[in-house]
Amino acid sequence: MAKPHFQALRGTRDVLSPESERQRELVAVFAEQCRRAGYGQIVSPIFEDLGVFLRVGESTEIVTKEMYEFEDRDGRRIALRPELTASVVRAFLQHNPTVPWKAWYEGPQFRHERPQAGRYRQFSQVGVEVLGTDDPHVDVEVIALGWRFYEALGLRDVTLLINTLGDGDSRQRYLGALAAHLEEHRGDLSDASRETLERNPMRVLDSKRPEDAPIVAGAPVMADFLSEADAEHFDVVRRGLERLGIGHEITPRLVRGLDYYTRTTFEYASAALDTAQNALGGGGRYDGLAESLGGKPTPGIGLALGVERTLLACDAESVFPAPSLAPDVFVIDLTGGDEGTDLSDDLRQAGLAADRAFDGRSLKAQMKLADRSGAAFAAIVGEDELAAGTVTVRDLRGDSGQTAVDRADIVSEIRKRSARS
Ligand code: AMP
Repeated sequence: MAKPHFQALRGTRDVLSPESERQRELVAVFAEQCRRAGYGQIVSPIFEDLGVFLRVGESTEIVTKEMYEFEDRDGRRIALRPELTASVVRAFLQHNPTVPWKAWYEGPQFRHERPQAGRYRQFSQVGVEVLGTDDPHVDVEVIALGWRFYEALGLRDVTLLINTLGDGDSRQRYLGALAAHLEEHRGDLSDASRETLERNPMRVLDSKRPEDAPIVAGAPVMADFLSEADAEHFDVVRRGLERLGIGHEITPRLVRGLDYYTRTTFEYASAALDTAQNALGGGGRYDGLAESLGGKPTPGIGLALGVERTLLACDAESVFPAPSLAPDVFVIDLTGGDEGTDLSDDLRQAGLAADRAFDGRSLKAQMKLADRSGAAFAAIVGEDELAAGTVTVRDLRGDSGQTAVDRADIVSEIRKRSARS
């Protein structure tokens, strides 16, 4: 009996073709939005010093409970990145680029979560970060970039939720009022929320537990505590979005999974997905993060969008299908294989997509493969063609039948026919 083979670990997946090409195209659509808006790509390491993420927030579950951390062979504490903002800010401090620094990224993130539909332990994100300005128009630019990306994919059922978490004094006063409210109802909170309350009262607002719902619903809202400067900042953001025709819902209790956010926070939710997993992405300002990573105070804002989750929304809305992988031409060699090798290489070097069969199969078997490949044409070399120095081109989808062309003309012939079909 064959030995049992390994399976991909729980919460991880192999992405096979054509879904993998679809992911790549999604990243290309995002990259194009970034290019148009003047963002350059950053490719940072997948693992970092554990400290980079610990500084992000001792009360962030992503950091305290879900991080893949280990000691390497030199005894260094390492983490697989659970998100990219901290890495990008670390890179910013390391390289000191001119500001405003606008960077985009894509790649895998790792979180030890309970796997379910749309929630994995390795997943991919695309995102941007802007460091070095707290101009609210940047908030508008970043939020609009995400919005235009979803539009470019063809998604229509996306809702933008926005909130402001204030900063400095206003946030302190709000936290005081919120903590007092939660303390007052401490006895009725879930055990988990009582524990969260100790570390970060704001995160209790994120609780989905039914026993917490009435207490959360009655909690004070940030909007009533905003300083004039914070209120003005939020106003400019909202007016900017309105100018661009980007509808948004103000959700006063929207807090996000990471602790470093200040002022503007936002989330894109898909109405086409189950509510438990309907967040396609989100982001916000993190004006204190550079400082907590040991740098000089530098305002920043960014967004991160889930690739798999976004594709699930595309499935649900029947948009952005996987690209076709059909080659332009399928090469059929009935003379042993060498002709097929030469012909395929010529076609490929000319920029055409050419696939072929192996193993010296029969004409019938090779024709079947050609059909299955989705190619528009077959280029056939049998003994007769070989002797005559020709190739037979057969139309597999249209009704133009087949013709023999000179071996030397095959590339231009396929090109001509591909352009017509
Ligand atoms: P976050 O970095 O937590 O703000 O997440 C941003 C987006 O990444 C979410 O809205 C999801 O689309 C996606 N995401 C976060 N965690 C996961 C996960 N475990 N599996 C799949 N996608 C995720």
